[in-house]
Amino acid sequence: MPSLMKAVVKTHAGPGFELRQVPLPQIGPKDILIRTRATSICGTDVHIYNWDVWAANRIKPPVIIGHEFCGDVVEIGAQVTDVQVGDFVSAESHIVDHTCDLCRTGMAHICRHTQIIGVDRDGSFAEYVCIPAANAWHNPPNMPPEIAALEENFGNAVHTALEAEVVARKVLVTGCGPVGVMTIAVARAAGARSIYASDISDYRLGLAKKMGADVVMSPKREDVVKTVLEETSGEGVDVLLEMSGAPSAIRDGLQLLKAGGHAVLLGLPSKPFELDLANLVIMKGITVHGIAGRKLWETWYEIRGLLRSGAVNLEPLVTHRFKLEEFELAFQTMMSGESGKVVLFP
Ligand code: NAD
Ligand code: ZN
Repeated sequence: MPSLMKAVVKTHAGPGFELRQVPLPQIGPKDILIRTRATSICGTDVHIYNWDVWAANRIKPPVIIGHEFCGDVVEIGAQVTDVQVGDFVSAESHIVDHTCDLCRTGMAHICRHTQIIGVDRDGSFAEYVCIPAANAWHNPPNMPPEIAALEENFGNAVHTALEAEVVARKVLVTGCGPVGVMTIAVARAAGARSIYASDISDYRLGLAKKMGADVVMSPKREDVVKTVLEETSGEGVDVLLEMSGAPSAIRDGLQLLKAGGHAVLLGLPSKPFELDLANLVIMKGITVHGIAGRKLWETWYEIRGLLRSGAVNLEPLVTHRFKLEEFELAFQTMMSGESGKVVLFP
């Protein structure tokens, strides 16, 4: 193995990344070293690139970015028994302690001491990445790397769409970014009766159609509330899957939700905002569910089931491929809004 590798590094507090030659990660007794085959860009990476308020509070440079990836195991720590050199793996990006009260009661996805790969420690925009063996997920050797890299992000969509009962129900998906459109695909696979989807980007509404939405709407052009009420004989929808984090989409979505309905929220608002809780939540008797990451490891088994059965095909979502060295162009593409998933190949 070489002693140095290429990596995309957040070198300092402020916008941008740098391509650097850095030493290969040193692995501990419970870790594995992975030769990265493919790694995709997440909205979180864009926040770190732009150095917004969240990133400034959380990231301690220098750190290698990237947490959606797959690759081949090239080295294992002395105490690792369930992963072997040569295995083709993806990874759960949340490293949990396995010991806190939440981990011990089946809620490891909201562990008190979660550390995120590519956020709190070095990540996958590099030729090699080190992770705890406990975070590895085995893939079939013939799985396309660009799809294996997406599994982690797909898991957010799977977790969201399967949290509510969608079979035979009318579903509204607000926000058709990569996670939103994958959520549409899962809701379709899970038997939703009709899926209404909104986004301000026409490119993304096109992807939403491709991934299974029945009706797509742009709040820039039309009154989403009016359109959905017309489509549903004035009743509204049974399930809201909120994937934008936009306050206006959250309000419209809750307004369109039937009394007694189920709202599942994954999109992250950029800052706190005002909401008419009395009329949109309490008096409607709805159930609101927040979604963080993937359930460990129920969601990963659902990811496997949906992909291997062919119930969900993620291929149409991979719209751009770049070499790791072309990361600047890759980030510009991602930020343009005219893309699905952007995948980097180290
Ligand atoms: P993204 O930014 O690509 O997608 C958000 C989409 O919402 C964009 O396509 C945008 O055009 C659209 N949008 C903006 N305003 C809108 C409006 N008023 N109505 C409808 N759509 C609108 O992000 P993504 O990668 O698809 O992730 C979706 C959201 O989920 C983001 O907020 C992200 O930060 C969050 N996220 C949360 C978790 C979690 O664990 N909770 C994990 C991953 C991502
Ligand atoms: Zn824990």
